[in-house]
Order: sequence, then structure tokens, then C-alpha cells
Amino acid sequence: MALTDITREAVLAAIAEFDRLGRDAFLEKYGFDSSRRYWLLHDGARYDSKAIAGAAHGHLPGRSPLAAKEFSGGRDHAVTVLRRLGFEVTSAPNGDSSSFQTADEIASAIGDLRPASASGKPMLKQAVVLLWAIGRARAGQDRLLGWADTVAALSPLLQAYRRDGESRHGRPDYPIAALFNAGLWDLPGRTDVPRAHGTAAWAWFAEQEPEGGLPEFVYALARRSGPARVRMIDAIAARFFDDFDESGLLTAVGLYDEGVAADEAPPRGSSDQETARGRSPEAARSDYARLCELVARRETRTHGQRRTRIAGDPIRIGVARRAVLLRSEGRCENPGCAKPAPDRNDRGEPLLEVDHVEQLADGGRDHPVQMIALCPDCHRVKTHGQSRHQLIPVLTQRARELHDQWMCTGG
Ligand SMILES: [Zn+2]
Repeated sequence: MALTDITREAVLAAIAEFDRLGRDAFLEKYGFDSSRRYWLLHDGARYDSKAIAGAAHGHLPGRSPLAAKEFSGGRDHAVTVLRRLGFEVTSAPNGDSSSFQTADEIASAIGDLRPASASGKPMLKQAVVLLWAIGRARAGQDRLLGWADTVAALSPLLQAYRRDGESRHGRPDYPIAALFNAGLWDLPGRTDVPRAHGTAAWAWFAEQEPEGGLPEFVYALARRSGPARVRMIDAIAARFFDDFDESGLLTAVGLYDEGVAADEAPPRGSSDQETARGRSPEAARSDYARLCELVARRETRTHGQRRTRIAGDPIRIGVARRAVLLRSEGRCENPGCAKPAPDRNDRGEPLLEVDHVEQLADGGRDHPVQMIALCPDCHRVKTHGQSRHQLIPVLTQRARELHDQWMCTGG
């Protein structure tokens, strides 16, 4: 028996069975854990790719299903087999194009939320719940949490971050029910979640005490991918905050620092580091364009009719840094040097210093067009060397050129 024997028909049969049984029962029947890394996409739905592959083997005539320990679910095996049969399998995700696409879907679900309003503005409760959960994912805390712990963690946040006219109680029942109904919250095994606002929801949660958390693919993105995390935060800000300064709330949930834009370091020696490095030039350029778009989105903020430039946003600086490191392709961007970075860090990023070509006070922006990646030697010269006055105009021009090159060939 071998996984490579499975056919397209057998996979479709497994998908149909998954739909019929529901996810939890399907995984339980075949003894698989939920997917952390790869999903099979079919007709707009996501399936745990390894479990589908194992179950498909049991749909071959005269064969039995393969157990989880009998084969690898990774890129080298189940994923390859499924792709060869013509199925789309996505990986979740580092900060690459595929994670951008998934993050866009999540952002659009966030944009569709219809919170009740207080003094003409959206109430913040759903935003507080989502940001808290994204902060937990980033910190590597468990995806699901019991009801009592959820209430204890959220109550102080809900009481502290609210609009004038928004109720003072810290109960997360209704925002969680609303997020569940929007597909942005998972309450495993529950389908009868109340839709009505008020005591009905609170009584249901108090009685059922459901475990809950972000849906798995949302959690996986928030956990692993910095740009996807930033995209979600921005979508929440666009939908809810408008004129509300969310930096206090972001700080409270652990999402207001440069590292928010960084990926989780993949496990040592995993193939992920290699794939991140070996990405095609087109994909790298399209990622660069998307990162610049994230920077631009965080650069100004609408206050009523007025657009205000936001200074010193650590999340924006983190995204801009990341874009510049991608653009550097691991080499010093000083045209007179171009030396390779001495090494990479655990996330696979080149060890280069990303610097503003001009001081912020002199009109420099936290934007890749005015930032440059330098090797340690060039960075020291630019900061302290006598020749820095000649070097800075060269670097200013070079950053602009590289940025234009990367943007105009971007997808
Ligand atoms: Zn250099």
C-alpha cells in the first residue's frame, strides 16, 4: 500500500465524505490531527490535506485508509501527490504571496462585520476580541481557550477600550457570537450559537461554557506570518477605529512593536527557510509591492475629512524594514560595495542594517523608497565616517532607483 496509488476520484470521494461528516467527525474517524501547515482547496472550501490523502486511500477498491503515522503530510509527500492529481494545496504561510491572498480574504470578512454603533461609530467589542486573539496567536499561545479563561482575559480589555456610549460591562458573549456567525471565530462542535443580542447570548455561553478561538487558518496566519498579521490589524483599524487611537489597545494585546511584521522563525533545518530564499523573482517583487502598500496604508490616517500623517508607528517601520531586506537580496545596497550579508538570522533574513537614508527630522520617511540595507561596514561609514556627506546622496539615489525597479516589475 502506498499513498502514491491514490487517484483523483478517491480524493473527491474523501472530500465528499468530509463535507458529509463535518470536519471534526472526519478527523476523528481517520485519526488525524487538524492541519497546521497545508490545506487542500476545493470549490472554495479548505480541507486538511493530510487527512484527505489518508482517507482517499481507503476509497480505493480493496484498500484501507492510511493512518497519520504511515506517511508524511508535508511538501515532500502528501502535498506533492495531491498536486500531481491536479488539486490546489496551499501552505500556511510565511510572509509570502500565498499568505497575502489568504490575509486578503480574512480582511474582507473583517470589512463585512456589522457592529452595532455607539454615538454613530462602530462599537469596539468585536475588534478588541479579534486583536486579543491575534496577540495570543503571535505569542504562540493555544488557539482554543476555555470560556471562563476567555471571560477573565477579555473583561478588563473590553472595559478599558470602548467608545463613549458603549456599554461598560466586559462580557465577550455577544461579540464572540457575532464573530462566530461571520466565520471569524471557532467554537468547535457548536452550531446553535445564538444570533440575538442580549441575555439570550449570555445565558447560552454561561451554560455551555464553550472553548473557542480563532479559526485554524486565521490562527495559523496570525501565528506565522508578519505581513498577514499586519494586514488583519489594518483591516480591523479600517473597520472599527477610524478616529479612535488604537495604539493603547495594540500595546495591551502585544501587537505594537516592530516585530509584529516579522514571521515566526521556522523550525531549524526545515524546508521553509529554503523555500523563502528560493522564491521566484516575480513573487519577490509582488511581495515587495504588497509590503509597500501596507506601509502606505499605515502612513496616513483619516480623521473625519482630514488625513493625518502618523509618526513613529513601530508596525509600519517593521513592515518597511522587511520590504527593504527583501529588496536587498542579501547584499549591501551601497552600489560601491554590494557585499553579501555576513550571515542570516534564525528567520532567514540577511544580517544587514536597514537605515533611513536621510534623518527623519530632515524629511526622511519610514518608507522603503527612503530606506536602504547596508552591511555593517557601510552602515558605520554612513553614520560616523568623514565620507558620509558624499555617501548619503549616493544612497538616496540608489534607494529610489531600486524601489522604482522593484515596483514597476511587480505584479
Ligand atoms: Zn556595504
